[in-house]
Amino acid sequence: MTIEQRPACCWHVTSPGTGECAGGRHYPDEASARRTAGRIWTERVTAGFGEPDVHARQFPQPCWTARCDGPCGALLDEGCPVHAGSRAAMERECDASGWTLVMRGGRAGDAYCPADAPRGDDLADMEWP
Ligand SMILES: [Zn+2]
Ligand SMILES: [Zn+2]
Repeated sequence: MTIEQRPACCWHVTSPGTGECAGGRHYPDEASARRTAGRIWTERVTAGFGEPDVHARQFPQPCWTARCDGPCGALLDEGCPVHAGSRAAMERECDASGWTLVMRGGRAGDAYCPADAPRGDDLADMEWP
């Protein structure tokens, strides 16, 4: 089972253009979000843009992520780690990224990145509950 909800709510930084990441980067804790907010604040002020409206904020609920069950064991990452607001949304992200989801009991069980996707023969051999 590797579409899973993170144990805690992510943090993000509220400022346009902070992002290498579409939709904004997520931070695992307040300290790292505040460090980035502080760095952006200092950069903008130093560059003469005045004080930016940049804050560290916590999302109201934990994100969902997908981890490959194949040899790589990597999190779904499109240049930035992909986080979604629900299991269903994360399944759509996997689909959009070409990941293979093996359904078990009507829910996505294992997830595989394109490089580690099970071949047809392997799929047929898989145990179905
Ligand atoms: Zn997140
Ligand atoms: Zn993989």
